[in-house]
Amino acid sequence: MSGNMHIARSSDKSILEKAECGGAVTSILKFALETGKVDGVVTIRAKNGNRYAGVPVLITEPEELSETSGSLHCSTPNIPRFVKEYLDGASTMKLAVVGKPCDIRAIIELQKRKQIDNDNLILIGLNCTGTLSPTTAKEMFIEEFEVEPTEVMREDIDEGKLVIILEDGTSKSKDLIELEEKGVGRRDNCRRCEINIPIFADLACGKWGAETEEKKSTFIEVCSNKGKALIDEAIEEGFIEVEEPDKRSIQLREEKDKAEKERAKEWKGRDFEPLLELAPSERLDYWIREFNKCIKCYGCRDACPICYCDHCLLEANRGFVEGGKIPPDAVFPLTRLAHVADSCINCGQCQDACPMELPLSKLFNLLNTKLSEVFDYTPGVDVEQGPPLSAVMMEELQIEDTFLDMSSINTRLRGSESSNSS
Ligand SMILES: Cc1cc2nc3c(=O)[nH]c(=O)nc-3n(C[C@H](O)[C@H](O)[C@H](O)COP(=O)(O)OP(=O)(O)OC[C@H]3O[C@@H](n4cnc5c(N)ncnc54)[C@H](O)[C@@H]3O)c2cc1C
Ligand code: SF4
Ligand code: SF4
Ligand code: SF4
Repeated sequence: MSGNMHIARSSDKSILEKAECGGAVTSILKFALETGKVDGVVTIRAKNGNRYAGVPVLITEPEELSETSGSLHCSTPNIPRFVKEYLDGASTMKLAVVGKPCDIRAIIELQKRKQIDNDNLILIGLNCTGTLSPTTAKEMFIEEFEVEPTEVMREDIDEGKLVIILEDGTSKSKDLIELEEKGVGRRDNCRRCEINIPIFADLACGKWGAETEEKKSTFIEVCSNKGKALIDEAIEEGFIEVEEPDKRSIQLREEKDKAEKERAKEWKGRDFEPLLELAPSERLDYWIREFNKCIKCYGCRDACPICYCDHCLLEANRGFVEGGKIPPDAVFPLTRLAHVADSCINCGQCQDACPMELPLSKLFNLLNTKLSEVFDYTPGVDVEQGPPLSAVMMEELQIEDTFLDMSSINTRLRGSESSNSS
């Protein structure tokens, strides 16, 4: 049930001061905790006040929530993995979880695999058009913006610009595409991300459509009955004040979403077309060259929020991957691909984790884009829709571009290894 929209503001002045927009997210979370609707809240806190080190936290005391207000654009916390691994997949406590579209989509994929308990969760989604890796951001602030990273108090991404707000209240702005063409700016996966408004969460909260000069507000779209019950009670109990958005606000939000989707499509073109223009054998050689750099550290597997097997086939004691062999056989990346490609939500956690800087999210996102076209399936947006490769017919697997001939890839990988060593 979508279509129910509010422009919302916290009734608590101290929350409003610290919040990114109208503080509605923090106030709704506070309401949920104080009234016992949830046992805990999962949000992000800047570790020791460092805005470049945002970590997921479980908050159970309402007064601690204000420390988590605001948007950390230069932190890429792994929220789904935190809920799954450190909070037992929400099986033992009722939780409200805040997340960007990719975080919420990963949680929905985990719900499908019974690794996160849907009944115990309220999902508070944030609109998003990108995050920056902390290292890239700090270097970029020094080199491109000529400011010290510690001087930056806030960032904003809007209409193709990256704006930074400094501690003296001034701001600096640069064209995002120009920065990104130089290799800085947002993470690769974020540039290609087309899902900006998480309408598959219970509430979708953002700044678009609520930005006015005179007062900060949060635009909220109510996306489920669970979300409606929560926000209606938070309004009734006086935690937030709301008004109806006018047509202009709704239209502005839609226009911004559309423009960002277009920018993401352009990035997909820039990233994918050079690869797709290669002959299949040249494309395969490209990936073999990349995977020959792999040191089998398992970072990508451990970071991937939707890598789902309890006992991973890739562990050395399973007999699938030869222990002590670097680079590993093609079976290593291919197993990850086979298990995850249909459900990859393009969160970029694998690429962030890779010490050899393999363009992993590009590979998974390219394959997932192709598979999504073939199967008309978008991962992470509908808990009722199962991953297609768990239910495909043999004929469908023969479709060109999705067919993976492991034996020939392994033979070629071994061939290139022996020529490397000779
Ligand atoms: C990286 C990022 C990009 C965004 N881009 C857009 C955009 O393009 N358009 C738009 O309309 N809105 C965007 N938003 C949403 C917007 O910035 C506000 O978060 C939203 O409007 C809610 O405002 P609030 O004052 O109610 O939130 P607050 O009360 O300030 O609460 C914000 C919540 O966000 C959590 N949070 C902060 N950083 C992160 C993070 N990196 N990952 C996950 N959770 C985090 C905090 O822990 C807190 O719970 C973005 C948010 C983030 C985090
Ligand atoms: S992948 Fe999309 S939703 Fe996730 S951080 Fe990047 S832009 Fe935001
Ligand atoms: S494969 Fe990479 S981009 Fe895709 S879901 Fe896993 S960690 Fe995220
Ligand atoms: S993170 Fe990189 S180096 Fe480590 S196993 Fe994955 S691909 Fe190989």
